[in-house]
Amino acid sequence: MILGLGATGCSVARFWQRNGIPFKACDTRPEMESELLHCEATAGAEQVLFGDFDPVVVDGLTELVVSPGIAMDHPLVDRALKAGVRVIGDIDLFMAEANAPVIGITGSNGKSTVTEMVAAILRASGSAVAVGGNLGTPALDLLEHPADIYVLELSSFQLERSEKLGLAVATVLNISADHLDRHGSMPRYHQAKHRIFRGARTVVANRADPLTVPLLEEKADVVVWRDGEPDLREFGTRVVDGEVMLCRGFDTLAAATELPLPGRHNLANALAAMAVASAAGVDDEQLVPGLKHFHGLPHRCALVRELDGIRFINDSKGTNIGATRAALEGLGGNGNVVLIAGGVGKGQDFTELQASAEQRCRRVLTVGESAREIELALGATVPCQRVETIEQAVTRGRELAKAGDIVLLSPACASFDQFSGYAARGLAFEEAVKALQEGEQ
Ligand code: ADP
Repeated sequence: MILGLGATGCSVARFWQRNGIPFKACDTRPEMESELLHCEATAGAEQVLFGDFDPVVVDGLTELVVSPGIAMDHPLVDRALKAGVRVIGDIDLFMAEANAPVIGITGSNGKSTVTEMVAAILRASGSAVAVGGNLGTPALDLLEHPADIYVLELSSFQLERSEKLGLAVATVLNISADHLDRHGSMPRYHQAKHRIFRGARTVVANRADPLTVPLLEEKADVVVWRDGEPDLREFGTRVVDGEVMLCRGFDTLAAATELPLPGRHNLANALAAMAVASAAGVDDEQLVPGLKHFHGLPHRCALVRELDGIRFINDSKGTNIGATRAALEGLGGNGNVVLIAGGVGKGQDFTELQASAEQRCRRVLTVGESAREIELALGATVPCQRVETIEQAVTRGRELAKAGDIVLLSPACASFDQFSGYAARGLAFEEAVKALQEGEQ
């Protein structure tokens, strides 16, 4: 049975349908019935249940595939476990079926960027690559097209319910607080992420972040990167004749200025991507060409417009404090950022934003559900001002910013209080920015 018929659940339904496996499906949201009862994904199901159905349905199952949107302490999951049902996620089904090496990438921030960077490197080196998972195409849908190698972005929720995955290359990029409302605590979030290492052939670790290094003794090779001077065979940066270079040990691979993406965090992402691609067998000299043509993904520190010397940057995907700190440190100068922050706070402690905000921000414009929480955490160090909407934030940001400043949407929060997702929030920001008139305040 599939529990949860979102994008992932529907990909499981399609997969079982393609393979002629009998299955049932359920979703606890009654409002999904009209959309999903007769859709192509559930057409092959023996039974589809919505809303408040009798939990007895889980008792006799062989497998329950739990979608990432469902918490593992959900009463139906609990009941299934007690009844001895095998509880898994979509990635377990994918791994059993994939007949090419699979790279898995997780972390608190930079997952999508590094996943796409790795894919760009592998493509440039001549491989047929399939990319997906938590980003874009659900993993099981990737199986429909042949590939030499799969690159999957994996979320903590997908990992939390997966068994021993046995990835060819597995990495945790970084760990900072996120989703504590669902995982309960940092140790549990950390543990969920580290499930990615189980059975991995090669592990890629970030030397600067001890939380990314496997906790248990794994019989895996380890490739290491760090945002700083590398040891022999590690990936890192060195300053050569005043210029920052990406290196492997003492070998120079590229100048940082050759890579199009801005910010220190993207340099770290490039190093991680090189380490992962290298672990997947790409030669050192083939690591750079793909990165030189990678211009980043929308809603991640993307320049929307420069107007009267003010740059408007959309970092709507900056949905936790770690991401917003990276954006402020990577893009901001001294006190030249008008930051737009707020939304759903997910149990984070916004005082962790104080130091970066104090150094980088001229003003913080707060919006959404967590506006007051952010004001209380930052108000003593940076002037904060409440706005009701993203459009108001853009207008106010423009009034407050001076030539040379940045108006940065990097909310440190999820968007679901006011938008359907980070992309809708980013588009609202971009539209408001594009509507601003030149020379007019
Ligand atoms: P994820 O898929 O983990 O959410 P993305 O690649 O989509 O990560 O980037 C989301 C945001 O996280 C970016 O917009 C940026 O603000 C921030 N970010 C990107 N890379 C890093 C990094 N290496 N460290 C910290 N923050 C980062």
